[in-house]
Amino acid sequence: MIDYRLKGHALQRGPMKKTTLDELGFEARGEAVRFLKKLWTGEGADCPVCGEKLELLHKKAKKNVCDWQCPGCGRVFRTIHLLDELNETMPK
Ligand SMILES: [Zn+2]
Repeated sequence: MIDYRLKGHALQRGPMKKTTLDELGFEARGEAVRFLKKLWTGEGADCPVCGEKLELLHKKAKKNVCDWQCPGCGRVFRTIHLLDELNETMPK
């Protein structure tokens, strides 16, 4: 028997939480763009929320520098989604 309520709960509280731009607290577009660029070059960046060094989400596919995860707080950074949000909330 599967308890769907428990399953839903696990999904919400699980480590694959998608991070929204809002949570990161960037005050200016340039700040957010610098952060995203560091990820896209593969250089990596510190988590704006907890300060841990972000890691590639897909370690086996090293060429994919679009998705990153924080080992500290478990947040997942999908840079393409973050860029979309940035263009919606802080257009040039
Ligand atoms: Zn973090």
